[in-house]
Amino acid sequence: VSEPGAEKPVAFTLVGSGAVRVNPRRGGPAQILEIDGRPILIDCGRGAVDGVVQCGYEIEEIDRMFVTHLHFDHVCDLPYFALLAWNNNPHNELCVHVPTGLEHFLHHAVREAYKDDIASRLGHGKSADGLDVEVVEIGAPGVVLEQDNCTVSTLVTPHAAMLNLNYRFDACARRVVVTSDTQPHPDLAAFCKDADLLVCECSGTAEFLSGQPWGGWHMNPQTVAQLACEANVKRVVLKHFVIENFTDAPDIADQMAQAVRQTYPGEVIVGVDGLRIEL
Ligand SMILES: [Zn+2]
Ligand SMILES: [Zn+2]
Repeated sequence: VSEPGAEKPVAFTLVGSGAVRVNPRRGGPAQILEIDGRPILIDCGRGAVDGVVQCGYEIEEIDRMFVTHLHFDHVCDLPYFALLAWNNNPHNELCVHVPTGLEHFLHHAVREAYKDDIASRLGHGKSADGLDVEVVEIGAPGVVLEQDNCTVSTLVTPHAAMLNLNYRFDACARRVVVTSDTQPHPDLAAFCKDADLLVCECSGTAEFLSGQPWGGWHMNPQTVAQLACEANVKRVVLKHFVIENFTDAPDIADQMAQAVRQTYPGEVIVGVDGLRIEL
């Protein structure tokens, strides 16, 4: 754990380790992968804008974002991010890679919802340049970007009947996989193969999830461990702790990490907001 301005070429920061419900200790899903000093944001959930700054980054320096899926906990700060990027940076060229559907979302959540605000600013001389972020819709799995010594690949996995993308970043001879919310899927192991870092959702224990109507959409400690073993990843960070909003056990995330360690021999880290790992 250290400050931005990495000495190593790749640095991962968990901006928000929480999920849907408000948890004062955990922001909504958001993470930054910094490659050769250039930060990429993955998801933009509750509190992500504040979280990015608290983690030592500037909104204006982030010009690329990847979104996993359009559940609101993963995109609710995106309209704010887009408006702020436009407001702060006259040369804003934010590009957002997303499952299909974000054009519609941003049109309504930025252009329509804030049309009075936008008209007001344009009326005071602000240029409309940079207001409409570049949206790259990803409808299919595979390589979605090759640029600056970084290859970004996606894998579609089932989650709540949404188009749902997991992301793999191969850069500077490192491999980092950032999962979306996902139910276990046989293709995940090959996708994560030999990763230096697997950042994986672990929404709750198997027992807890089996009692929820939506529980089948998510990973539990045993399915995380199975994936990490099959994929032979070097290190796992757990995130998206839905269960914390439903239990009195303050150490439930630690308990789940311990359960992962029962079968996975590598390092397991309980995600916390601001966690930074250099690779
Ligand atoms: Zn979620
Ligand atoms: Zn979700």
